[in-house]
Amino acid sequence: MKGVGPQRADLLKKELNIFTFRDLLEHFPFRHVDKSKVSLIADITPQTDYIQVTGRLSNIEVIGHKGAKRMVAALRDSSGTIELVWFQGISWVQKSLSSGQSYLVYGKVGFFQDKVQIVHPEMEAWTPDKKEGKSFLEPVYPTTEKLRTKGLGGKQIGKLTQALLAQVNEKDLSENLPQNIINNLKLIGRYEAYRQIHFPANSEQYEQASERLKFEELFLAQLRMNLLRSKRHRFSKGVVFDKVGEMFNTFYKNYLPFELTNAQKRVIREIRTDTATGKHMNRLLQGDVGSGKTIVALLIMLLAIDNGYQACMMAPTEILAKQHLDSLKGVMSDLPIGVELLTGSTKSKNRKEILKRLSEGDIKILIGTHAVIEDVVQFQNLGIVIIDEQHKFGVAQRAKLWGKSETPPHVLVMTATPIPRTLAMTAYGDLDYSAIDELPPGRQPVVTVHRYESQRSRVMSFLRAEIDKGRQAYIIFPLIEESDKLDYENLMNGYEVVKGYFPEPKYWISMVHGRQPSEQKEQNMQRFVNGESNIMVSTTVIEVGVNVPNANVMVIESAEKFGLSQLHQLRGRVGRGAEKSYCILLSGSKLGIDARERIKILTVTNNGFEIAEKDMELRGPGDIEGTRQSGMLNFKLANIVHDRPLLEKARSFAIAIVENDPDLLSAENLRLKNFLQQQKGKIAWSKIS
Ligand code: ADP
Ligand code: MG
Repeated sequence: MKGVGPQRADLLKKELNIFTFRDLLEHFPFRHVDKSKVSLIADITPQTDYIQVTGRLSNIEVIGHKGAKRMVAALRDSSGTIELVWFQGISWVQKSLSSGQSYLVYGKVGFFQDKVQIVHPEMEAWTPDKKEGKSFLEPVYPTTEKLRTKGLGGKQIGKLTQALLAQVNEKDLSENLPQNIINNLKLIGRYEAYRQIHFPANSEQYEQASERLKFEELFLAQLRMNLLRSKRHRFSKGVVFDKVGEMFNTFYKNYLPFELTNAQKRVIREIRTDTATGKHMNRLLQGDVGSGKTIVALLIMLLAIDNGYQACMMAPTEILAKQHLDSLKGVMSDLPIGVELLTGSTKSKNRKEILKRLSEGDIKILIGTHAVIEDVVQFQNLGIVIIDEQHKFGVAQRAKLWGKSETPPHVLVMTATPIPRTLAMTAYGDLDYSAIDELPPGRQPVVTVHRYESQRSRVMSFLRAEIDKGRQAYIIFPLIEESDKLDYENLMNGYEVVKGYFPEPKYWISMVHGRQPSEQKEQNMQRFVNGESNIMVSTTVIEVGVNVPNANVMVIESAEKFGLSQLHQLRGRVGRGAEKSYCILLSGSKLGIDARERIKILTVTNNGFEIAEKDMELRGPGDIEGTRQSGMLNFKLANIVHDRPLLEKARSFAIAIVENDPDLLSAENLRLKNFLQQQKGKIAWSKIS
């Protein structure tokens, strides 16, 4: 491209990821400035913000020394004079301007000792017979400091884009959306949209272009995911769980400790139907904390076993894996099913034994952490993998599980944190989806209150009263980074303070944190689970999954430091027994607006789905835990929070197309098919979620 030599090209790649013409076209302006009008200097008032004027330049001079050095010049039009000032790049500016010449000048108006001036104005040579002003809004592009110093500031990039658009014709940006959608939504054409998003004549044109391109982005993403899903439904091969057998039935009749909720029953039915078809299941199971996902997982694993397969359940931490093992063993009691635990700290002798029995098919259920994805772990015939609290696992790690059997095992991903609907449909649109949207009966909402640091001793008195009634309590400290020294000091100090309020031997305190060896963690945890200690002082390592029904109070220290979903997740550790439960959010007295909002939301609702929506509004979609790859949510223009109506439309059009024409064979969808075929090369991670 003219104007881009090797050095600039290199910088564009490195700094902005612009490699191709297409990348440049998709480097969209973040705002536009209106330079369609030219004003008279005499019109400037103290209220004037940015202005564009024309005039003749004179009296260029450099004044002052060193730090105070600046260049000034006068600009005169038919109505008056203003001063132009430069502090930087003086020698370059001096060379590029000439006295007596006319300029089109744009910039922010300032006043200095009653003189009107523009500092660092944008200057463009101008001849009096030229049409005044620009016929379009001028785009300003995101750029970097480095590029700026090489003459590629936010405005100069626009020059490149303009030059590029001059070479691009309608064929290069041919329409890719079906005509009926375009008509239905009254969208402008693709070629027009690209021109107008960069150089709109007015703000309506900009809006039209942005609507069209946002829709295209969202629609194509939805279409891709629904096509993948449809392909999987039609062509994939999966192991068949077509019978409900002895283990499932025996367990259901004789061992199930409670009546399942309707939501649990429905989800089990959905999974049963899905795994009986011979197609591969790739399903996301959402359920608020405490909704009872574990028992669903167990029943599904029994289903696998009844059909002659092994099952594997992965948890993100050793504590959790161990707890799953214990609770499964607890409810299964004397059912003749081999269940084992495999984690990083499984001793090598034991490990050998487990691996052997696993490959011989003697172990039917393997519970574990990341350790189960190592290559040495070989199953005889793995039928299903259940991933608990999925966001702790990377996508590539999950991919490894697929290699563990000839026909890929079914995958059930259980999320710890509910995901807002818009997010689920964007990030997980290719997965099948089930939700447990009902809590087991008799659950009381956790009473949540906000207290300030200064009220600590009252909070501790309350805690003491509950503990004296025989209950247990959690006290949670923030731990942002495993390596954060300050957080550890806080935790240790906090521990001492708690000890002061609850002295031994009347009270016992367990402490668990990430720096402890896992054995010690385990031991301390176990003491609390067994009721040998009254208080668990912990960092967020207990965030996910542990189940101690007798614990009914949770104090969260420095609650302002936690994210909303994280707080909700933590709170889910209490309210699991019959007793009324409490969550006390302690904070300092100075709170930012966002922190105050987060804390407030928690005190008014216990509904995880509602909280997840709020969290997304507050933080933006990219930061929400539970998202698979933030890349999937990084649309160039669209934003799933603000453009929700458009997303809903895009989704329903995409679904309709895939339902009626899953291979895009109709003439109407030919454009789409061609377009998608051109766009290849990305890894289909969605297959392995
Ligand atoms: P989560 O969905 O957060 O993983 P769990 O599976 O740990 O929830 O279940 C939370 C608690 O609720 C456990 O003590 C479990 O035994 C209990 N539970 C699950 N389902 C039911 C039910 N249908 N009726 C009564 N209690 C249930
Ligand atoms: Mg759980």
